[in-house]
Amino acid sequence: MIDVILGLGSNKNWNGMDSMTLLKKACLSLREFLSDFSCSSVYRTKPLYLENQPDFYNMVVRGKVGDFYSPFELLDEIQKIEKSLGRNRAVEVRNGSRSMDIDIEFFGLHKVDTERLVIPHPRIKERAFVLVPLLEILNEDADFIRREDFSECLEQTGSAGVEKYGRL
Ligand code: ADP
Ligand code: MG
Repeated sequence: MIDVILGLGSNKNWNGMDSMTLLKKACLSLREFLSDFSCSSVYRTKPLYLENQPDFYNMVVRGKVGDFYSPFELLDEIQKIEKSLGRNRAVEVRNGSRSMDIDIEFFGLHKVDTERLVIPHPRIKERAFVLVPLLEILNEDADFIRREDFSECLEQTGSAGVEKYGRL
């Protein structure tokens, strides 16, 4: 089986649902094809790139897919879930508000570098909103990626603007 780690974020209500409800729905859908599913707490975070927008609710989830599952298949699945939760890239501003964003942070130790998909996600190391929940769900002892690599990054970024909000 391949260990997969996804980053989820939301800072916009959709169809009467707030970000916590949207995150819950996304997790329910992700559970359908990720086995051994687990998730971090939800963190309330200050937007990083476009600062003039509501705070985000971010979390990281992990699970396993079969050895023959492709990262592109996973991208298709997460984009379907984003769409079902109100995501509409046609009308949005880059790095702006969105009801649901799901990024593939890691797909085992696989590296992908195409126009459509880059794995590991290229901006993990600058994003405290990914690093903090990531460190929460990585095993204390040996995991498929090394905790220390990411705790060092977090020392660089600092965790200002990332506050534990609660659990789903
Ligand atoms: P962002 O997450 O960077 O704010 P989007 O969610 O709109 O922006 O994604 C833009 C594109 O990024 C997607 O259409 C997808 O093809 C591509 N992409 C590249 N690498 C990844 C990845 N690791 N996880 C998710 N999407 C990715
Ligand atoms: Mg995305």
